[in-house]
Amino acid sequence: MGDLGTDAPTGLIPVASYARTSEDIRQRDGHGVRYQLRINERAAHQNGCVVAAEYGDNGRSASKAGAERPEFDRLLGDLARGYTDDGQRIAGVVCVADDRLYRRAEDLARFFAALTSRPGRIYVDPQGVRDPYSQEGLLAAVRSLDAAVAETRIRSRRLSDWHWARAVEGVPHSGPRPFGWQQDRITVHPVEATLVEKAVGDRVGGKAVRAIAHEWRDLGVTGTRGGRPNAATVTQIMTAPRVCGYRANKGELLLVPQTGQPVLGLWEPIVTPDQWRAVCSTFSAGSLYLHRGSGAPRLHGKRAAPRYLAGGILRCGAKRHDGTVCHGPLCGQKARSKKSPYSYVCRDCGRCSISGPLADQVLERLVFSESPRQARPPESVHRRWCAGELSLEERRRLITSVITCCVVRPGVKGNHSWDCSRVEPVWR
Ligand SMILES: [Zn+2]
Repeated sequence: MGDLGTDAPTGLIPVASYARTSEDIRQRDGHGVRYQLRINERAAHQNGCVVAAEYGDNGRSASKAGAERPEFDRLLGDLARGYTDDGQRIAGVVCVADDRLYRRAEDLARFFAALTSRPGRIYVDPQGVRDPYSQEGLLAAVRSLDAAVAETRIRSRRLSDWHWARAVEGVPHSGPRPFGWQQDRITVHPVEATLVEKAVGDRVGGKAVRAIAHEWRDLGVTGTRGGRPNAATVTQIMTAPRVCGYRANKGELLLVPQTGQPVLGLWEPIVTPDQWRAVCSTFSAGSLYLHRGSGAPRLHGKRAAPRYLAGGILRCGAKRHDGTVCHGPLCGQKARSKKSPYSYVCRDCGRCSISGPLADQVLERLVFSESPRQARPPESVHRRWCAGELSLEERRRLITSVITCCVVRPGVKGNHSWDCSRVEPVWR
């Protein structure tokens, strides 16, 4: 039988998951190890592997000579033998970062000897799969030893992974207390939760969110940071996934990797997931909590009138991590370049921006030269446009009379030449 390294029944590669916290870490309650093991599970899953066994050294140094790491030793033993105590085959190792496994040359050598003692082994971390037999794989490992250089970067990555792991365990967001819950962020606040529940019901029943905010103000309700509720804040409160117990992370609903189901928070929900979905469906996507992200809700409601010609008409064409297109509105903002004193920028993902004058020029050309004949405004209107006789509002109305929106392809980094083909119109 050819050894493909996979586990026959599942087709997944069985890997050993290793985690370690150092002795100087503040909490030695095992959280750190557990979170790392969670991250390992995710990395394994993302790379076609499955965790066959877990090894965790809690509060153990890897930089001091002679410091004991019993679980590391057990891992090396199992790697050399090829299987775990209970007979599970191991075809590789998954770990959040190299420095969890080794911070000393001796340990690197021992680890690599054990890992490569059999053919077909792999090394997995959140960045992907490495081939430990290749020179590149070994060089990568040696480079990791150069901790002085890498330390900062590794630390920050561990921090964001740590946030993810906390989130996936359903731990509430840190930061200000969310409206509807008590200071522990777990127990509902009896008065506020009742308000939220009623608001969700009222909204699903067709009530204007402005009216709900008005009611709250009349009752003397203030936000958890003292702000007066308005339509935007009430919308954010009602559409935040936390109201039904779902956990979001960085503005995206967090899913359990294995099942694709939403991660459930540890806190008490106020409404059911169905009620949450129902209330979300009463808003346009742009005003939802998940769309706007977890940033502080706006406390002074009125939407500012657009100050730039193409603001909101341009849509972000950048790809998100999951492969879907961002499609967030590009908003006008001041820029420093002489050629482009303003630009349009996606505030949702920040990965797409375009020179303001370029985009405005393209829009003008689209409307007056490239739009379908039957929809095109007459030449007399174009002359008034060029003469500056039309207000911003009038010009925006002309654009939106022929174009639903324009999707803007992200530019090439470092290339500042104007590329009109980046703007693609969606005709009405
Ligand atoms: Zn975007």
